[in-house]
Amino acid sequence: MASPDDRPHKRSVLPASAGLMEATFLLEATYMEPPAHPRVELLRPRPSPEAVREAHFYKDGSICPLYPPDGTWDWSRPDSMAEYLDTVAIWLAKYAYWEFTRRHYGKGIWVGSAIPHGKLGLLSRIPCDSQCYCRSGLKFRECHGRDLC
Ligand SMILES: [Zn+2]
Repeated sequence: MASPDDRPHKRSVLPASAGLMEATFLLEATYMEPPAHPRVELLRPRPSPEAVREAHFYKDGSICPLYPPDGTWDWSRPDSMAEYLDTVAIWLAKYAYWEFTRRHYGKGIWVGSAIPHGKLGLLSRIPCDSQCYCRSGLKFRECHGRDLC
């Protein structure tokens, strides 16, 4: 049992007693019809129900490596799939840490910034001309924001 001073929210590193973090993943990445974002599924290890609920997955079980309204990913670039997979690699490192902290502390810690999902307040702040959060690649006003824009 970790002492209070060893809890991750008190320190930025894990205590030495936590051991090394090592993870291997098997993914399936599907290129979708533009302008939709690729769909990436974690095949092994299968994510836990807690992870799908709390650790940046879409409702269909695929991973959510970036926030589409930010416009950081553009399918029209020639290396768009490679760029998307770069964000997936970062997501995997964060996810591995989330699972590691969940196992060691009972609560997963997502490192770095993150956008909470599914909040109505969040939806009302997506600019209408930004990409929709659902990764369709469509503008928010043309997709899930029809009633809000
Ligand atoms: Zn949408």
